[in-house]
Amino acid sequence: MNQGNLFSSFEKLALDARKSTLIETSDGRRYTYQDMLDVTARFAASLIAHGVQPGDRVAAQVEKSVDAFFLYLSVLRAGAIYLPLNTAYKTAELAFFLEDAEPRVFICDPAGAEEKQALAAQHGVAACLTLSADHTGSFLEHAEGADAEFDTVARDGDEVAAIIYTSGTTGRPKGAMLTHANLLSNGQTLTRLWGFTQSDVLLHALPLFHAHGLFISSHCVLLSQSRMLFLPKYKAEEVLSLLPRATVMAGVPTFYTRLLELPGLDRESTANMRLFISGSAPLLPETAREFESRTGHRILERYGMTESVIIASNPFVGERRIGSVGRPIDGVDVRIVDEQGVLQPAGAVGEIQIRGSGVMKGYWRNPEKTQADMTSDGWFRTGDLGILSADGYLDIVGRAKDLVITGGYNVYPKEVEMVIDALPGVHESAVIGLPDRDFGEAVTAVVVPKGDSVDAAAVIGHVKASLANYKVPKQVFFVDTLPRNAMGKVMKNELRARYEKQAK
Ligand code: AMP
Repeated sequence: MNQGNLFSSFEKLALDARKSTLIETSDGRRYTYQDMLDVTARFAASLIAHGVQPGDRVAAQVEKSVDAFFLYLSVLRAGAIYLPLNTAYKTAELAFFLEDAEPRVFICDPAGAEEKQALAAQHGVAACLTLSADHTGSFLEHAEGADAEFDTVARDGDEVAAIIYTSGTTGRPKGAMLTHANLLSNGQTLTRLWGFTQSDVLLHALPLFHAHGLFISSHCVLLSQSRMLFLPKYKAEEVLSLLPRATVMAGVPTFYTRLLELPGLDRESTANMRLFISGSAPLLPETAREFESRTGHRILERYGMTESVIIASNPFVGERRIGSVGRPIDGVDVRIVDEQGVLQPAGAVGEIQIRGSGVMKGYWRNPEKTQADMTSDGWFRTGDLGILSADGYLDIVGRAKDLVITGGYNVYPKEVEMVIDALPGVHESAVIGLPDRDFGEAVTAVVVPKGDSVDAAAVIGHVKASLANYKVPKQVFFVDTLPRNAMGKVMKNELRARYEKQAK
């Protein structure tokens, strides 16, 4: 068996747990580890029959399903590169990915398949097949007749296993190339760190087109021979009803705020759970505290990004610090530097830079961007701002590109948001910079109120009382909800675009 291919590590453990359940769906279907081995063998053979060779890209824009998860594993097994695409992408966005990644095969949902097939043909994709969440589609029909024996294709650890285009940024998306070794080391470290064992049941309610749902927790399951309860979508009521059958849940902060809206969330309904994990966006300390007082569980917050999967995590055993993302995980080094690249002492704000086994190989066909994001001494610039404490815990203060520069002064949005969020009558807030003739950028707050007890004057007065004048919002907008992407991140670009014209 070839050790370099990530799938080989999964396969070895699966062969040892053939009869154990790997996946249980919300409608009661069960798939054993043997089923996974059989299905991925057929899928991999079918991909190869469609001309896929080692190193070829296989793009998939499909609804979440067990088949879609097995498709990912079978692409690894065939030695190809998996390219998951957000189901929300429209034709124009899709055209970019097909052109940039040049996949050999594109697998899409049967709905709207004709248009996508035409697009794929235009971009020279050899085969465009369909896969539906209801277990139909031309890909399945083709794979049905294939053999359930397949020799996993040999790969070196530093060859690319997946390309994930990063979300939430402006301009041209970048494809982060993650290698087999990146994913294996991250998976093994997290399995240990979060204490996964064979008896765990992961509640899987995240999408499969992002690193969070595709790799992080599902790799822990495969590497610990445990199982998952697989939900097509996150629905708070359904998740709450399934918690008694699960032991671990990994989610974005919104998962937790929505659960908190349900009166049934209490110690009893979470008694079977051993771990709640949150990441992809900041978890408000208020949410963490409320969750703990209702359930007795302290949510474990961790920090990661597409370009290196998980970077830091609070411990399973030991202090889980609210408001912090914990310590760098084994194999990853973190440093904080200022704008000149000078190393900062504990307690000082600066850019978070990382290096180590999880950091991607580079951006797909974009050496300039790869070079721009790496320092000359080999560290990756995350673009996030953080503080390392003297005892090694990392706090995220904001994103470098989120920085508002007003009248020459730097304002870290997170700092202002925390002050606004502490105001009774405020649920949450987002601080952005809007163009301003006088200051360059004007600090602007977008606030989600609780009831109607707060107005702009109260927000401004409160910030003025706590922070330097240049950090005080010049304008305050009120909204019912903040726009968030599928991973729960506030889409500040959208807020900026929305309010640009209204800026004073
Ligand atoms: P993505 O590549 O879509 O996973 O986004 C990665 C970015 O999400 C990071 O660079 C951070 O800005 C943000 N992020 C991830 N986890 C956290 C966290 N626990 N707290 C704050 N920000 C986070």
